Order: sequence, then structure tokens, then C-alpha cells
Amino acid sequence: MREPVFPQYGSFLKDESGLTGEAEQIAFPEDAATLAALMSSAAKEGLPVTLQGSRTGLVGGAVPAGGLIINLSRMNSILGFAEREGQKLLHVEAGVTLEAIELAAAAKGLSFRPDPTEQTATAGGMFAAGSAGPNGLRYGAGHTHVEALRWVTPRGGLWRINRGEYIFGESGCPLPDGGRLRCPQEWALLPRAARLPEKGQDLIDFLAGSEGRLGAAAELWLKLFPQPAGCWGVVYFMADDDILHHFSRALLDWHETAAGGLLSAAEYFDQATLELLEKARLESGSLKKLPRLPAGRAALYLELAGDDHSALEAALLDSYRLFGEAGGDEDETWSVNSQAEVERLRLMGHSATELINVASAARAREQQLAPTRLETDFAAPPEKLTQYMAMYRTGLAESGVQGCLYGHLLQNCLHVALLPRTVPEREKSGALMLYWGEQVLRDNGLLAGKNGVGKVKQDFIKKLLPPEALEAWRTLEDFFASP
Ligand SMILES: Cc1cc2nc3c(=O)[nH]c(=O)nc-3n(C[C@H](O)[C@H](O)[C@H](O)COP(=O)(O)OP(=O)(O)OC[C@H]3O[C@@H](n4cnc5c(N)ncnc54)[C@H](O)[C@@H]3O)c2cc1C
Repeated sequence: MREPVFPQYGSFLKDESGLTGEAEQIAFPEDAATLAALMSSAAKEGLPVTLQGSRTGLVGGAVPAGGLIINLSRMNSILGFAEREGQKLLHVEAGVTLEAIELAAAAKGLSFRPDPTEQTATAGGMFAAGSAGPNGLRYGAGHTHVEALRWVTPRGGLWRINRGEYIFGESGCPLPDGGRLRCPQEWALLPRAARLPEKGQDLIDFLAGSEGRLGAAAELWLKLFPQPAGCWGVVYFMADDDILHHFSRALLDWHETAAGGLLSAAEYFDQATLELLEKARLESGSLKKLPRLPAGRAALYLELAGDDHSALEAALLDSYRLFGEAGGDEDETWSVNSQAEVERLRLMGHSATELINVASAARAREQQLAPTRLETDFAAPPEKLTQYMAMYRTGLAESGVQGCLYGHLLQNCLHVALLPRTVPEREKSGALMLYWGEQVLRDNGLLAGKNGVGKVKQDFIKKLLPPEALEAWRTLEDFFASP
């Protein structure tokens, strides 16, 4: 069942974070029972386990630190369609890719709407990393569309969890094996960034984002919805932050209205990110299909989706009006409404992540360091968006560190990718991230919003979270690992 890692499995020691780890053995289970048997025997031997999906994670969660790698890419069967209380579901093994899920769903005119991330990522990786994509504005993170789960505990126990069956109360949560997870009252006083269970939370949502530390997702039942009949993708280019601030404030209010509810994505790209994209557009095959990206501009990509074409057009006109009132120029917009063209505009967000990975690795190589990505992944209160933008800009300007600012604007989930040119700048970048992180904690936001903590962010989180929060997590991990 297990094989030694070297030499042929060397690439399984890495993920997209650029980190490289080490391991003695690797296993590729093909079903939930084999996965459970592997987890059980590793626990008995005291062997550390690292779970892997497609290794597209950006924070090194799938990078092993010794022991056994359990790679789930061969648990890649689509197990069928199901229906629960009128809701269409797709039953998949954890190693099925999002691309395969979309293909299977599309064959029935359906779709996995959250479209949470990179298409080669697996359903299990998406769940365990707590991934969310551009559509998160309307559909939330991917795990909120998981209706049921087959879960393997670190000791090899196999649980079936249906949404709504196991809910946290004041003092804990009943578990599928008849046990109870107890949660001391004091946990409720710890920051939200500790991601401790909350009263009313579904066990499924608590296990989401646990990055392989509380067990493995073996099978998932995903909610599917019909594809909306119409979709507009619009890019608004703007010369300064003043326009962006007025526009984003107006969009936040508008999003609460019926017309604004058609908004499904709001992705921001600052000037530095657009410059990276334009440079790549001149060289790369897929981005080449975009028109030239204007110089000296930042951009906001909005997506509107729905079934009523005239309501969509009215919403589109509303958004133009708001842009104009914010000081934007309607001539500096692109709008498209065919599926293929919308996909092309969406590529900007995906490519930005890839290009920043490449740029970060290149900068680290110049300093003879491992290719580590220095990037924030905060989720802060949306109403404080303007203050956060100002905080990021001031930090970058005062430190002299180059950076790219991009991400889910209206959720205030902007990434700042720091690109230090020297070792002292690298130190300043770390200090900036800590300073910003303190602000996020004060605002009760999340320090690791959608990419997880992995190995890359562990020290960062440890420096910011109170020791009681770290202790609470150790208690949880011990509980899940106990016989
Ligand atoms: C170009 C690019 C764009 C991206 N865009 C986004 C984006 O828009 N939004 C976003 O959220 N992320 C994004 N990501 C990050 C990444 O794609 C997601 O984190 C993804 O969900 C990881 O899935 P994976 O299968 O590759 O998991 P892996 O990287 O293999 O693992 C991720 C984590 O989950 C754990 N894990 C994996 N499978 C399981 C399982 N079955 N059970 C329990 N634990 C498991 C691993 O131990 C690890 O901690 C992007 C990455 C790239 C490279």
C-alpha cells in the first residue's frame, strides 16, 4: 500500500507555495476504506501524515514534514448524482478535480456555483483549505455548498456527516461516532481568527479549512444549481484611488438592493498587478486574447449573473451610473456577455495569482532564498475597506517595498503580495504583515482568509494569536487524534 518517496515521487514533496519538504513514504489510496486503513496504521505507528490533493495550495499545507504522504489523486471517481429535499447533488470522491466536477455538472445543465479556485484543485483540497473564488461574493466559500461528507478521522474512523445533523451548541457538538466534542465557554471570547467552533455552526463547516489536521475528506456531496441564463463581465479602469473609493462605497450599498444582488464577483487589480498582467499578455497564449491593458490604471472586474436579461441590463446600467458618479469614465470600461468572453476576463484573476508566484520566486532566487510567497490573505470587515486600502498603500509607500494589491474587493479580502528586492526589504515586509495582521485581529477579521495557514503562515499566526487560542487548537487536534 505504501512506497518509499524517492526517487520517482520527488515532486510530491512540494506544492505551489514553493516550499519543499521531506517524507519517507507515500500512498495513493483508491477508496475511503483504504484511506481509513492507512490513517489507522499510521496513527498506531506514530507516523506523521500529510494529506495531498492536487498540491495547488499556496501556503505549503500539502508539503510533508517527514512521515507518510497520503495523496488522494487516485480517489477520483464521480460516484453519481443524488437529490436531497429537492436539492441536486453530485457525489464525488475527494480527489476529483473541480474541472471534472464542472464537466459532469454541465452535462446536466448544472454547475458547482462557488467556482472556488484553480480548476485542477481537488474537491477535498478545496474543502480542507476553505477555498473561495471570485464568485464568493454571491455564493460564499466552496465548503458552504457541501451538503454531506464522508470523513476519515486521524485514527481511521469513518464518519458520515449530513448537513444539519451535527450542530455546535453552547458547550460542544455531538459526533457521528456517538462521542461529543466539548468546547469550553472561554473559547467564545477568543478572536475569530482562531477559527474555533461557534454555537450554531455545522460540523461540516467546522471541519472545512482544517487543512488535514483533523482528518481527511474522503467523499463529498456537492450542491449543484442551474447555470444562470445570462452573465455580464465588465472591467472598469481607473486612474486613482479616489474613484475606487467612491465606486466601491457605492457598490457596497448597491449590492444590498435587488439589482445589486445580481453582482456575483468584484475583483480588484492595482496598477502593479495590471502591469504584470500586461507584460504577460504580450508573451502568453491565453492572456493574448485580451485587449491591451491600459497603462497607469487600476481595474475593477465586476460580474453580473441572473436569469432575467432585462434585469441584468438594468443592473449593468446602474453600475455604469455609479462608476460615472464616482468620477470614472465610461469610455474606460470593457463589457462582454458571452460565456467565452467572460471566461477570458476571469482569467485575469487566475493569472494574477500565477504571475505573483513567479515574481515572488524570482525575487527570492535573487536573494538566494527558498521561493517563499510573502502575501497577506486577510478577511476584514467590508465597511472598513477604505481604511484598509489606505493602510496598505501607506505601508508600501513608507517602507519602499514593492507590492501588488489584488483580490475580492467588496468582501475586503484583498491580498497584498510583497515583492522585496533585498534582505532588509524582506524584513520590512514581514514587519508590515505583522502590523497589518494586528489591525485585522483588532477588527475581529481572519488572518488566513481562504488559502489556509499551511506551513508558510504558521509562525506568522503564532506571533499574532493569543497563546490560549493556540492551546485551544492543540486541544482540538489531540481530541481528534485520540482513540
Ligand atoms: C493559479 C492559482 C490560483 C488559485 N486561486 C485560488 C482562489 O481563487 N481561491 C482560493 O481559495 N485558492 C486559490 N488557489 C489555491 C489552491 O488552488 C486552493 O487552496 C485549493 O483548494 C487546493 O486544492 P488542492 O487539491 O490542490 O489541495 P492541496 O494543495 O493538495 O492541499 C491543500 C490543503 O488541504 C489538505 N488536504 C488536501 N486534500 C485533503 C483531503 N481530502 N482531506 C483533508 N485535507 C486535505 C492538505 O493537507 C493541505 O493542507 C490558487 C492556486 C493557484 C496555483
